[in-house]
Amino acid sequence: MPRFVDRKAVVDLDLGPCECPVEPKPHENDSVQFRQFQSYVDWLAIVDAGSRGMEDYNRVRLTHRIKAWNLRDENNKPVPVTAATIADLDQATANKIHGFLNDIDSEENVELPNG
Ligand SMILES: [Zn+2]
Repeated sequence: MPRFVDRKAVVDLDLGPCECPVEPKPHENDSVQFRQFQSYVDWLAIVDAGSRGMEDYNRVRLTHRIKAWNLRDENNKPVPVTAATIADLDQATANKIHGFLNDIDSEENVELPNG
């Protein structure tokens, strides 16, 4: 629908070989799925968080954008995507995610073919 963001549009980021704390590994690679587009309210929330500092900016950006992931806990249960679990991501993973979001956001105005 023109002029509205497509909240079902998603993009996947491959985080590399599975590091879930279970054997055998539940999948080959860990991955995170993001909402591809941000609405102006998402954007405002992220800008507003940025005015409070880097910590808020980074946290709010990830909680607004991460839609799903395939990460498992030590009991081989899916780790839910929540503000708390997002806040527990390690630095390397969060950095990888931010780099990816920077890339897709810089392409955001590019018209994508309808799938
Ligand atoms: Zn894994």
